[in-house]
Amino acid sequence: MSKIQMTTPLVEMDGDEMTRILWKMIKEDLLLPFIDLKTEYYDLGLEHRNATDDQVTIDSAEATKKYGVAVKCATITPNAARMTEYDLKEMWKSPNGTIRAILDGTVFRAPIVVKGVEPVVKNWKKPITIARHAYGDVYKNAEIKVPGPGKVELVYTAEDGTEIKELVHNYAGPGVAQGMHNLDNSIESFARSCFNYALDIKQDLWFATKDTISKKYDHTFKDIFQDIFDAEYAQKFEDAGIVYFYTLIDDAVARVMKSEGGYIWACKNYDGDVMSDMISSAFGSLAMMTSVLVSPQGFYEYEAAHGTVQRHYYKHLKGEETSTNSVATIFAWTGALRKRGELDGNQELMEFADKLDNATIQTIEEGKMTKDLALITSIENPTVLNSEGFIKAIAETMNK
Ligand code: NAP
Ligand code: MG
Repeated sequence: MSKIQMTTPLVEMDGDEMTRILWKMIKEDLLLPFIDLKTEYYDLGLEHRNATDDQVTIDSAEATKKYGVAVKCATITPNAARMTEYDLKEMWKSPNGTIRAILDGTVFRAPIVVKGVEPVVKNWKKPITIARHAYGDVYKNAEIKVPGPGKVELVYTAEDGTEIKELVHNYAGPGVAQGMHNLDNSIESFARSCFNYALDIKQDLWFATKDTISKKYDHTFKDIFQDIFDAEYAQKFEDAGIVYFYTLIDDAVARVMKSEGGYIWACKNYDGDVMSDMISSAFGSLAMMTSVLVSPQGFYEYEAAHGTVQRHYYKHLKGEETSTNSVATIFAWTGALRKRGELDGNQELMEFADKLDNATIQTIEEGKMTKDLALITSIENPTVLNSEGFIKAIAETMNK
Protein backbone atom coordinates (compact mmCIF):
# COMPACT_ATOMS: atom_id res chain seq x y z
CA MET A 1 0.00 0.00 0.00
CA SER A 2 1.45 3.39 -0.93
CA LYS A 3 1.45 6.02 1.77
CA ILE A 4 -0.55 9.23 1.64
CA GLN A 5 1.63 12.14 0.60
CA MET A 6 1.61 15.60 2.19
CA THR A 7 2.59 18.81 0.43
CA THR A 8 2.87 21.18 3.41
CA PRO A 9 4.27 20.23 6.82
CA LEU A 10 2.24 20.39 10.01
CA VAL A 11 3.81 22.24 12.89
CA GLU A 12 4.36 19.51 15.47
CA MET A 13 4.66 20.63 19.10
CA ASP A 14 5.77 17.75 21.31
CA GLY A 15 5.05 17.92 25.03
CA ASP A 16 5.45 16.31 28.43
CA GLU A 17 4.91 13.29 30.65
CA MET A 18 2.25 10.69 29.82
CA THR A 19 0.96 12.58 26.79
CA ARG A 20 4.50 12.62 25.35
CA ILE A 21 4.52 8.81 25.62
CA LEU A 22 1.10 8.61 23.91
CA TRP A 23 2.29 11.05 21.24
CA LYS A 24 5.05 8.71 20.12
CA MET A 25 2.77 5.66 20.11
CA ILE A 26 0.10 7.47 18.08
CA LYS A 27 2.66 8.47 15.46
CA GLU A 28 4.20 5.02 15.25
CA ASP A 29 1.03 2.93 15.24
CA LEU A 30 -1.65 5.16 13.75
CA LEU A 31 0.02 7.73 11.50
CA LEU A 32 3.38 6.61 10.08
CA PRO A 33 2.08 3.29 8.66
CA PHE A 34 -0.42 5.21 6.52
CA ILE A 35 1.01 8.67 5.87
CA ASP A 36 4.31 9.95 4.60
CA LEU A 37 4.10 12.33 7.55
CA LYS A 38 5.63 15.77 7.01
CA THR A 39 6.06 17.86 10.14
CA GLU A 40 8.26 20.67 11.34
CA TYR A 41 9.11 19.43 14.81
CA TYR A 42 9.33 21.62 17.92
CA ASP A 43 10.11 20.02 21.25
CA LEU A 44 7.99 21.86 23.82
CA GLY A 45 8.92 19.33 26.51
CA LEU A 46 9.86 21.27 29.64
CA GLU A 47 13.55 20.27 29.48
CA HIS A 48 13.94 21.71 26.01
CA ARG A 49 11.91 24.82 26.84
CA ASN A 50 14.29 25.37 29.73
CA ALA A 51 17.37 24.73 27.57
CA THR A 52 16.19 27.28 24.97
CA ASP A 53 14.95 29.86 27.51
CA ASP A 54 11.48 29.13 26.15
CA GLN A 55 12.49 30.38 22.69
CA VAL A 56 11.23 27.10 21.23
CA THR A 57 7.66 27.95 22.25
CA ILE A 58 7.85 31.31 20.49
CA ASP A 59 9.43 29.66 17.41
CA SER A 60 6.67 27.07 17.26
CA ALA A 61 3.98 29.76 17.38
CA GLU A 62 5.76 31.73 14.64
CA ALA A 63 5.95 28.55 12.55
CA THR A 64 2.19 28.18 12.99
CA LYS A 65 1.78 31.62 11.45
CA LYS A 66 3.99 30.52 8.57
CA TYR A 67 2.33 27.17 7.79
CA GLY A 68 -1.17 27.72 9.20
CA VAL A 69 -1.78 24.47 11.06
CA ALA A 70 -0.21 23.03 14.23
CA VAL A 71 -0.81 20.03 16.45
CA LYS A 72 0.23 20.28 20.10
CA CYS A 73 0.85 17.73 22.83
CA ALA A 74 -0.08 18.68 26.41
CA THR A 75 2.71 20.49 28.24
CA ILE A 76 3.63 21.20 31.84
CA THR A 77 2.95 24.71 33.09
CA PRO A 78 5.70 25.07 35.67
CA ASN A 79 4.91 25.76 39.33
CA ALA A 80 7.18 25.73 42.39
CA ALA A 81 7.32 21.93 42.49
CA ARG A 82 8.38 21.75 38.82
CA MET A 83 11.19 24.25 39.49
CA THR A 84 12.98 21.65 41.60
CA GLU A 85 11.79 18.60 39.67
CA TYR A 86 13.27 19.92 36.40
CA ASP A 87 15.92 22.21 37.87
CA LEU A 88 14.49 25.15 35.92
CA LYS A 89 16.27 28.44 35.28
CA GLU A 90 12.95 30.29 35.53
CA MET A 91 9.30 29.55 36.14
CA TRP A 92 8.50 29.58 32.40
CA LYS A 93 5.06 30.78 31.41
CA SER A 94 2.30 28.48 30.21
CA PRO A 95 3.11 27.50 26.59
CA ASN A 96 -0.58 27.73 25.76
CA GLY A 97 -0.64 31.29 27.07
CA THR A 98 2.45 32.22 25.04
CA ILE A 99 1.10 30.64 21.85
CA ARG A 100 -2.32 32.21 22.35
CA ALA A 101 -0.76 35.64 22.85
CA ILE A 102 1.17 35.31 19.57
CA LEU A 103 -1.71 33.89 17.52
CA ASP A 104 -4.37 36.05 19.25
CA GLY A 105 -6.81 33.21 19.07
CA THR A 106 -10.00 31.86 20.52
CA VAL A 107 -10.14 28.33 21.95
CA PHE A 108 -12.95 26.03 20.80
CA ARG A 109 -13.61 22.94 22.88
CA ALA A 110 -15.89 20.12 21.79
CA PRO A 111 -16.70 16.72 23.30
CA ILE A 112 -16.16 13.55 21.27
CA VAL A 113 -19.45 11.70 21.36
CA VAL A 114 -19.52 7.88 21.34
CA LYS A 115 -22.36 5.42 21.88
CA GLY A 116 -21.96 3.85 25.28
CA VAL A 117 -20.74 7.04 26.95
CA GLU A 118 -23.99 8.97 27.13
CA PRO A 119 -24.15 12.59 28.28
CA VAL A 120 -25.70 13.16 31.69
CA VAL A 121 -28.17 15.50 29.98
CA LYS A 122 -30.43 13.04 28.18
CA ASN A 123 -31.53 15.32 25.34
CA TRP A 124 -27.96 16.21 24.26
CA LYS A 125 -27.53 14.22 21.05
CA LYS A 126 -24.78 16.25 19.36
CA PRO A 127 -21.64 17.90 20.71
CA ILE A 128 -21.80 21.42 22.12
CA THR A 129 -18.69 23.42 21.30
CA ILE A 130 -17.62 26.13 23.72
CA ALA A 131 -15.75 29.14 22.35
CA ARG A 132 -14.06 30.93 25.22
CA HIS A 133 -12.74 34.46 24.90
CA ALA A 134 -9.24 34.10 26.28
CA TYR A 135 -8.42 37.70 27.17
CA GLY A 136 -9.14 40.04 30.05
CA ASP A 137 -12.13 40.47 32.40
CA VAL A 138 -11.66 38.98 35.83
CA TYR A 139 -8.43 37.21 34.72
CA LYS A 140 -6.63 40.54 34.37
CA ASN A 141 -8.41 42.50 37.09
CA ALA A 142 -7.30 44.90 39.80
CA GLU A 143 -8.73 44.32 43.25
CA ILE A 144 -8.88 46.24 46.50
CA LYS A 145 -9.85 45.09 49.94
CA VAL A 146 -11.59 48.20 51.22
CA PRO A 147 -10.50 48.62 54.85
CA GLY A 148 -13.27 50.96 56.03
CA PRO A 149 -15.43 53.98 55.24
CA GLY A 150 -14.49 55.91 52.08
CA LYS A 151 -15.20 55.90 48.38
CA VAL A 152 -13.97 53.82 45.44
CA GLU A 153 -13.94 55.37 41.97
CA LEU A 154 -13.05 54.26 38.46
CA VAL A 155 -10.89 56.90 36.80
CA TYR A 156 -9.82 57.00 33.15
CA THR A 157 -7.13 59.56 32.31
CA ALA A 158 -6.66 60.32 28.61
CA GLU A 159 -3.22 61.16 27.24
CA ASP A 160 -4.18 64.86 27.26
CA GLY A 161 -5.12 64.65 30.91
CA THR A 162 -8.90 64.75 30.60
CA GLU A 163 -10.69 62.40 32.94
CA ILE A 164 -13.78 60.22 33.03
CA LYS A 165 -14.82 59.35 36.57
CA GLU A 166 -17.40 56.91 37.82
CA LEU A 167 -18.26 56.28 41.44
CA VAL A 168 -18.14 52.58 42.27
CA HIS A 169 -19.41 52.88 45.83
CA ASN A 170 -19.48 55.05 48.91
CA TYR A 171 -18.41 52.66 51.67
CA ALA A 172 -19.81 53.04 55.16
CA GLY A 173 -17.64 50.14 56.32
CA PRO A 174 -15.15 47.58 55.01
CA GLY A 175 -15.74 45.67 51.77
CA VAL A 176 -14.15 44.79 48.43
CA ALA A 177 -13.86 46.34 44.98
CA GLN A 178 -12.58 45.23 41.60
CA GLY A 179 -11.75 46.78 38.24
CA MET A 180 -11.75 44.80 35.00
CA HIS A 181 -10.94 45.66 31.42
CA ASN A 182 -11.17 44.43 27.89
CA LEU A 183 -10.14 45.76 24.48
CA ASP A 184 -12.22 46.38 21.36
CA ASN A 185 -9.43 44.77 19.32
CA SER A 186 -9.52 41.60 21.33
CA ILE A 187 -13.32 41.38 21.26
CA GLU A 188 -13.27 41.89 17.49
CA SER A 189 -10.74 39.06 17.07
CA PHE A 190 -12.89 36.87 19.29
CA ALA A 191 -15.96 37.63 17.20
CA ARG A 192 -14.21 36.95 13.88
CA SER A 193 -12.72 33.69 15.15
CA CYS A 194 -16.19 32.57 16.23
CA PHE A 195 -17.88 33.53 12.96
CA ASN A 196 -15.10 31.88 10.91
CA TYR A 197 -15.22 28.70 12.95
CA ALA A 198 -19.01 28.49 12.68
CA LEU A 199 -18.71 28.73 8.89
CA ASP A 200 -15.91 26.17 8.99
CA ILE A 201 -17.91 23.50 10.77
CA LYS A 202 -21.31 24.71 9.52
CA GLN A 203 -22.95 25.04 12.91
CA ASP A 204 -25.07 27.80 14.45
CA LEU A 205 -23.32 30.27 16.72
CA TRP A 206 -24.82 31.37 20.04
CA PHE A 207 -23.41 34.27 22.03
CA ALA A 208 -24.58 35.48 25.41
CA THR A 209 -23.61 38.12 27.96
CA LYS A 210 -25.41 40.05 30.69
CA ASP A 211 -25.89 43.26 28.71
CA THR A 212 -29.14 44.20 30.48
CA ILE A 213 -27.20 44.67 33.72
CA SER A 214 -23.77 45.58 32.33
CA LYS A 215 -24.95 48.27 29.97
CA LYS A 216 -21.51 49.45 28.87
CA TYR A 217 -19.14 46.54 29.42
CA ASP A 218 -21.16 43.54 28.28
CA HIS A 219 -23.16 45.65 25.88
CA THR A 220 -19.95 46.46 24.02
CA PHE A 221 -19.39 42.73 23.47
CA LYS A 222 -22.91 42.39 22.12
CA ASP A 223 -22.55 45.42 19.82
CA ILE A 224 -19.16 44.42 18.43
CA PHE A 225 -20.41 40.94 17.59
CA GLN A 226 -23.53 42.33 15.93
CA ASP A 227 -21.67 45.01 13.92
CA ILE A 228 -19.10 42.54 12.59
CA PHE A 229 -21.80 40.00 11.84
CA ASP A 230 -23.92 42.48 9.90
CA ALA A 231 -20.98 43.92 7.97
CA GLU A 232 -19.01 40.80 7.15
CA TYR A 233 -20.85 37.57 7.86
CA ALA A 234 -24.63 37.84 7.52
CA GLN A 235 -24.63 36.77 3.86
CA LYS A 236 -22.08 33.99 4.40
CA PHE A 237 -24.15 32.57 7.24
CA GLU A 238 -27.26 32.64 5.12
CA ASP A 239 -25.45 30.87 2.28
CA ALA A 240 -24.18 28.22 4.69
CA GLY A 241 -27.66 27.74 6.17
CA ILE A 242 -26.57 28.61 9.71
CA VAL A 243 -27.64 31.35 12.13
CA TYR A 244 -26.03 33.72 14.60
CA PHE A 245 -28.10 34.10 17.71
CA TYR A 246 -27.59 36.47 20.67
CA THR A 247 -29.34 36.12 24.00
CA LEU A 248 -28.81 36.78 27.71
CA ILE A 249 -26.43 34.42 29.49
CA ASP A 250 -29.09 33.06 31.87
CA ASP A 251 -31.44 32.45 28.96
CA ALA A 252 -28.61 30.73 27.09
CA VAL A 253 -27.91 28.41 30.02
CA ALA A 254 -31.57 27.41 30.20
CA ARG A 255 -31.76 26.82 26.44
CA VAL A 256 -28.53 24.80 26.40
CA MET A 257 -29.96 22.40 28.97
CA LYS A 258 -33.03 21.81 26.83
CA SER A 259 -31.25 21.69 23.46
CA GLU A 260 -30.08 18.66 21.55
CA GLY A 261 -26.64 20.19 20.96
CA GLY A 262 -24.90 20.66 17.64
CA TYR A 263 -23.92 24.36 17.90
CA ILE A 264 -21.12 26.62 19.07
CA TRP A 265 -21.64 28.57 22.27
CA ALA A 266 -19.43 31.65 22.48
CA CYS A 267 -18.71 32.76 26.03
CA LYS A 268 -16.89 35.61 27.70
CA ASN A 269 -13.73 34.56 29.51
CA TYR A 270 -15.24 33.63 32.89
CA ASP A 271 -18.42 32.10 31.47
CA GLY A 272 -16.28 29.99 29.13
CA ASP A 273 -14.07 28.78 31.97
CA VAL A 274 -17.06 27.64 34.01
CA MET A 275 -19.28 26.37 31.20
CA SER A 276 -16.58 24.35 29.46
CA ASP A 277 -16.00 22.35 32.64
CA MET A 278 -19.74 21.79 32.98
CA ILE A 279 -20.10 20.71 29.34
CA SER A 280 -17.08 18.40 29.42
CA SER A 281 -18.03 16.64 32.63
CA ALA A 282 -21.67 16.32 31.55
CA PHE A 283 -20.51 14.75 28.27
CA GLY A 284 -18.45 12.20 30.17
CA SER A 285 -14.75 12.87 30.42
CA LEU A 286 -12.01 15.44 29.97
CA ALA A 287 -10.15 12.75 28.07
CA MET A 288 -12.87 12.94 25.38
CA MET A 289 -12.60 16.67 24.77
CA THR A 290 -10.86 18.27 21.82
CA SER A 291 -9.55 21.78 21.73
CA VAL A 292 -8.53 24.02 18.86
CA LEU A 293 -7.13 27.53 18.92
CA VAL A 294 -8.35 29.53 15.93
CA SER A 295 -6.74 32.88 15.18
CA PRO A 296 -8.69 35.69 13.50
CA GLN A 297 -6.27 35.35 10.54
CA GLY A 298 -7.24 31.69 10.16
CA PHE A 299 -4.32 29.86 11.82
CA TYR A 300 -5.22 26.65 13.65
CA GLU A 301 -3.59 24.86 16.58
CA TYR A 302 -5.13 21.54 17.64
CA GLU A 303 -4.65 19.85 21.01
CA ALA A 304 -6.30 17.74 23.69
CA ALA A 305 -8.20 19.62 26.41
CA HIS A 306 -6.58 17.65 29.24
CA GLY A 307 -3.11 18.01 30.75
CA THR A 308 -0.06 15.75 30.78
CA VAL A 309 -1.71 13.17 33.08
CA GLN A 310 1.12 13.38 35.59
CA ARG A 311 -0.22 10.72 37.96
CA HIS A 312 -0.22 8.10 35.21
CA TYR A 313 3.26 9.14 34.09
CA TYR A 314 4.72 8.51 37.54
CA LYS A 315 3.16 5.02 37.48
CA HIS A 316 4.66 4.52 34.03
CA LEU A 317 8.10 5.56 35.32
CA LYS A 318 7.82 2.97 38.10
CA GLY A 319 7.20 0.35 35.43
CA GLU A 320 3.53 -0.02 36.36
CA GLU A 321 0.87 -0.44 33.70
CA THR A 322 -1.19 2.61 32.74
CA SER A 323 -4.53 2.92 31.03
CA THR A 324 -4.41 6.47 29.72
CA ASN A 325 -7.00 7.59 27.21
CA SER A 326 -5.41 8.79 23.97
CA VAL A 327 -8.64 9.77 22.16
CA ALA A 328 -8.35 13.55 22.55
CA THR A 329 -4.71 13.46 21.42
CA ILE A 330 -5.62 11.31 18.39
CA PHE A 331 -8.38 13.77 17.52
CA ALA A 332 -5.90 16.63 17.81
CA TRP A 333 -3.83 14.92 15.11
CA THR A 334 -6.82 14.15 12.89
CA GLY A 335 -8.15 17.70 13.31
CA ALA A 336 -4.80 19.09 12.17
CA LEU A 337 -4.40 16.60 9.31
CA ARG A 338 -7.95 17.28 8.08
CA LYS A 339 -7.41 21.04 8.14
CA ARG A 340 -4.04 20.62 6.35
CA GLY A 341 -5.79 18.48 3.75
CA GLU A 342 -8.50 21.09 3.33
CA LEU A 343 -6.03 23.92 2.84
CA ASP A 344 -3.90 21.90 0.42
CA GLY A 345 -6.81 20.33 -1.47
CA ASN A 346 -5.51 16.92 -0.32
CA GLN A 347 -8.61 14.71 -0.42
CA GLU A 348 -6.75 11.57 0.66
CA LEU A 349 -5.44 13.25 3.79
CA MET A 350 -8.92 14.47 4.73
CA GLU A 351 -10.36 11.00 4.22
CA PHE A 352 -7.61 9.48 6.32
CA ALA A 353 -8.49 11.83 9.18
CA ASP A 354 -12.15 10.77 8.98
CA LYS A 355 -11.17 7.09 8.89
CA LEU A 356 -8.96 7.39 11.95
CA ASP A 357 -11.70 9.25 13.85
CA ASN A 358 -14.21 6.57 12.90
CA ALA A 359 -11.84 3.72 13.78
CA THR A 360 -11.25 5.29 17.20
CA ILE A 361 -14.97 5.65 17.87
CA GLN A 362 -15.74 2.18 16.50
CA THR A 363 -13.09 0.58 18.73
CA ILE A 364 -14.74 2.09 21.81
CA GLU A 365 -18.24 1.22 20.63
CA GLU A 366 -17.07 -2.39 20.19
CA GLY A 367 -16.29 -2.34 23.92
CA LYS A 368 -12.52 -1.85 23.81
CA MET A 369 -11.52 1.16 25.89
CA THR A 370 -9.28 2.62 28.56
CA LYS A 371 -10.12 2.50 32.26
CA ASP A 372 -11.56 6.03 32.55
CA LEU A 373 -14.26 5.16 30.00
CA ALA A 374 -14.82 1.62 31.30
CA LEU A 375 -15.84 3.22 34.61
CA ILE A 376 -18.63 5.30 33.03
CA THR A 377 -19.75 3.32 29.98
CA SER A 378 -23.18 1.78 29.59
CA ILE A 379 -21.62 -1.01 27.46
CA GLU A 380 -21.67 -4.27 29.39
CA ASN A 381 -18.41 -6.05 30.20
CA PRO A 382 -16.07 -3.67 28.38
CA THR A 383 -12.53 -4.82 27.64
CA VAL A 384 -10.20 -2.55 29.61
CA LEU A 385 -6.99 -1.98 27.70
CA ASN A 386 -3.73 -0.40 28.74
CA SER A 387 -2.42 2.77 27.08
CA GLU A 388 -0.58 0.91 24.35
CA GLY A 389 -3.20 -1.83 23.94
CA PHE A 390 -5.90 0.72 23.18
CA ILE A 391 -3.82 2.37 20.45
CA LYS A 392 -2.98 -1.07 19.00
CA ALA A 393 -6.69 -1.94 19.02
CA ILE A 394 -7.43 1.19 16.98
CA ALA A 395 -4.65 0.24 14.56
CA GLU A 396 -6.32 -3.16 14.15
CA THR A 397 -9.67 -1.52 13.43
CA MET A 398 -7.90 0.71 10.88
CA ASN A 399 -6.33 -2.27 9.14
CA LYS A 400 -9.71 -4.01 8.93
P1 NAP B 1 -4.52 16.34 33.82
O1 NAP B 1 -3.26 15.99 33.19
O2 NAP B 1 -5.62 16.77 32.91
O3 NAP B 1 -5.04 15.11 34.67
C1 NAP B 1 -5.91 15.18 35.76
C2 NAP B 1 -6.57 13.83 36.00
O4 NAP B 1 -7.61 13.67 35.05
C3 NAP B 1 -5.66 12.65 35.81
O5 NAP B 1 -4.91 12.38 36.96
C4 NAP B 1 -6.64 11.58 35.42
O6 NAP B 1 -7.37 11.09 36.53
C5 NAP B 1 -7.63 12.34 34.57
N1 NAP B 1 -7.22 12.36 33.14
C6 NAP B 1 -6.88 13.47 32.41
N2 NAP B 1 -6.59 13.11 31.15
C7 NAP B 1 -6.74 11.77 31.09
C8 NAP B 1 -6.58 10.82 30.06
N3 NAP B 1 -6.17 11.19 28.83
N4 NAP B 1 -6.81 9.52 30.31
C9 NAP B 1 -7.21 9.13 31.54
N5 NAP B 1 -7.39 9.99 32.56
C10 NAP B 1 -7.15 11.29 32.35
O7 NAP B 1 -4.33 17.53 34.87
P2 NAP B 1 -3.24 17.72 36.03
O8 NAP B 1 -2.79 16.40 36.54
O9 NAP B 1 -3.85 18.70 36.90
O10 NAP B 1 -2.03 18.40 35.31
C11 NAP B 1 -0.85 17.73 34.91
C12 NAP B 1 0.02 18.70 34.14
O11 NAP B 1 -0.64 19.07 32.95
C13 NAP B 1 0.34 19.99 34.88
O12 NAP B 1 1.73 20.19 34.89
C14 NAP B 1 -0.37 21.08 34.09
O13 NAP B 1 0.39 22.24 34.03
C15 NAP B 1 -0.49 20.46 32.73
N6 NAP B 1 -1.66 20.91 31.93
C16 NAP B 1 -1.44 21.14 30.62
C17 NAP B 1 -2.49 21.48 29.78
C18 NAP B 1 -2.19 21.71 28.33
O14 NAP B 1 -1.08 21.60 27.90
N7 NAP B 1 -3.18 22.02 27.54
C19 NAP B 1 -3.78 21.58 30.29
C20 NAP B 1 -3.99 21.29 31.64
C21 NAP B 1 -2.92 20.96 32.45
P3 NAP B 1 -6.92 9.82 37.43
O15 NAP B 1 -5.57 10.16 37.97
O16 NAP B 1 -7.99 9.78 38.46
O17 NAP B 1 -6.89 8.62 36.53
MG1 MG C 1 -11.41 25.97 34.43
